[in-house]
Amino acid sequence: MPRIVAACAALLMTVSSTVFASPAERLGESIRFRTISYQTSEQVDYAEFDRLNDYLRRTFPLVFEQLLVETVNDYSLLIRWPGSDESLQPILFTAHTDVVPVEPATKADWSYPPFDGVVADGRIYGRGTLDDKVGVMSLLEAAEQLLAEGFVPRRGIVLAFGHDEEISGKQGAVSLAARMTELGLHFSWMVDEGGWLLSESPLLPDKVMAMVSVAEKPYMTLTLVATGEGGHSSNPPIISTIGRLSSALARIEDNPFEPRLVAPMVAMLEALAPHVGQPERFIFSNLWLTGGLVASNMAEQRMTQPFVRTTTALTVFNGGVKENVVPQRAEAKVNLRLLPGDTPEMVLETITALVDDPQIEISYFVWGAETPVSDHTAEGFKIISEVVSAVYPEAVVTPAMQVGITDSRHYTQVSDNQYRFHGMLITTDQTRSFHGTDEYIEVDSYTKAIEIARQMMHLGAR
Ligand SMILES: [Zn+2]
Repeated sequence: MPRIVAACAALLMTVSSTVFASPAERLGESIRFRTISYQTSEQVDYAEFDRLNDYLRRTFPLVFEQLLVETVNDYSLLIRWPGSDESLQPILFTAHTDVVPVEPATKADWSYPPFDGVVADGRIYGRGTLDDKVGVMSLLEAAEQLLAEGFVPRRGIVLAFGHDEEISGKQGAVSLAARMTELGLHFSWMVDEGGWLLSESPLLPDKVMAMVSVAEKPYMTLTLVATGEGGHSSNPPIISTIGRLSSALARIEDNPFEPRLVAPMVAMLEALAPHVGQPERFIFSNLWLTGGLVASNMAEQRMTQPFVRTTTALTVFNGGVKENVVPQRAEAKVNLRLLPGDTPEMVLETITALVDDPQIEISYFVWGAETPVSDHTAEGFKIISEVVSAVYPEAVVTPAMQVGITDSRHYTQVSDNQYRFHGMLITTDQTRSFHGTDEYIEVDSYTKAIEIARQMMHLGAR
């Protein structure tokens, strides 16, 4: 008898956790799968991705039974909802299921353990609540709701969830995009992670700013290798490899790239102009005159600098193995994020001229150099704006540029415009928890993110 009771209780729990749980509890549950991307794939526990996908299958039965679902490269998901009018281009919604690890030394600083998915104090806590299980879960909740309502899209809807965004997207988004090409899919527009609604922004402190990113900064890493004479430290060379490399790096840091306002930033400031007081209103409305000043002001502050220049970050320095040996080789890495318009070749030329040392060899690699700036006057952007205004009437919608890269860059061949926006409202302070400590989302913010996803699909595919 007790065994039967226990079995019934277990069954009830399973049923209730899938059928009767709230969206917040379901997001919490998704956090408990440790779908962590580590730098080397040997460290990744792929069974967790399988378990998460099983959970999604159980939790969103209408999506998984009624739509065309396939697994790409074992763990990524491609979900197709064909439209009734095949002459219309479909729209694409993307997100990623992997998360970054939690630094062991910071675990104790979390309000709740990072992989427990605790729902408390009106919040859902855990690694991935903002980046990016909110995307995966809100899109699935939205599609499930629309299916339950009997919605029939005129334009096709496709959902694509990569499983390795945090480590390049090569297994996930790249393969998903290849599969889309194979299927002959081409999207009028797409929505990925990257933008959100921001409160307490220094640019618009009293209102909510809905930032829909139309551009992202390509990622470039330079490797500088200095070679030269080494030997016993009792008889050192006049210029050592470490000295040579250090002065090259100092020149790079002392001579940052010139600040300037690029098109997405101009569009953002112009959209803000009617909503700010003087003198900002005048300044933002007359950027043809004030743009240079705005750019140099923004370049002076750490927080705003990345939006107005190609940044150079000195990130790695290696040289020497023993205190009484002068090394014959020293190596450093500089990570750059390029403003739209700056090409890797231009950047390399500038850096080479700055370093001006034939004994330092410079090589590089780039991610996302071809990512275009999307049109903020096109249909997709208008639909996102309309939806945001319906859910957050007080928000000011602006085009934006994001400084980090996303999987969007892998989909540029299959979609005309890439927008980056998952509809969660967060505070400026909260942005630090991306890849950081105490990542959480407000339950209310999550509920509205689902509503935004639902309306984007509904209005976009109607
Ligand atoms: Zn992400």
